Amino acid sequence: MNLVLLEEDELGAAGKVRLTGRRREHVLAVHRAAVGDALTVGLLGGKIGRGTITSLDPLEMEIALIDDPPPPLDVTLVLALPRPKVLNRVIAGATSLGVKRIYLINAWRVEKSYWKSPRLSEENLREQRILGLEQARDTILPSLELRRLFRPFVEEELASIARGTRAVVAHPYAASVLPSVLSGPMTLAIGPEGGFIAKEIESLQAIGFEAMTLGPRILRVETAVTAILGRM
Ligand code: SAM
Repeated sequence: MNLVLLEEDELGAAGKVRLTGRRREHVLAVHRAAVGDALTVGLLGGKIGRGTITSLDPLEMEIALIDDPPPPLDVTLVLALPRPKVLNRVIAGATSLGVKRIYLINAWRVEKSYWKSPRLSEENLREQRILGLEQARDTILPSLELRRLFRPFVEEELASIARGTRAVVAHPYAASVLPSVLSGPMTLAIGPEGGFIAKEIESLQAIGFEAMTLGPRILRVETAVTAILGRM
């Protein structure tokens, strides 16, 4: 945790905040904080700054929020639902890289059982994004939406989501190679562990997506997401 993320209703009078639960344990056990220590803090959806510990029991700090969070990455991530074990890492990782809009979508090779995973609960998906923000010292929560039907999403919604952006579907077997530096707004579609099927690639191309490869190495979903976002 590189930033203690606070919510509006936790702010007390004169910038006083009391920490409980996971953040309290972390500050005491990992930061080994003492009275007078200053930690990086941020307000969810707001500014970041410093929090000076004024008491250990209860754990309280006085905060000053003065700086803007880091700039976002101008990318919408359209991610075929990965296996539950991978899901948390991808969501937290993409959030820490600055993605602010995520769609988790179905695809032919997404196993149906993945949609029943408890990791798709609102609580878990929020927690993973919060962990990503804390990691990257950011405060702006990405939006995250689920789309359980590929075709209606692509045919009725995705074109307008991608309008005004460079739309790319990452596909190992594409003829075009992804440039080593990407600039400007982007919509990035990443396939499931088994890859997008040809028909899905064609549907995405029909609404303006370019199929592009990172090269002959087939990467795990989380590695491909990181490698591509790292070019932005
Ligand atoms: N067996 C699958 C296949 O052959 O397509 C591999 C899928 S890969 C594990 C999961 C997703 O990561 C792919 O659908 C693609 O979006 C992305 N990906 C992985 N390696 C890639 C590469 N070399 N170039 C572009 N995208 C890649």
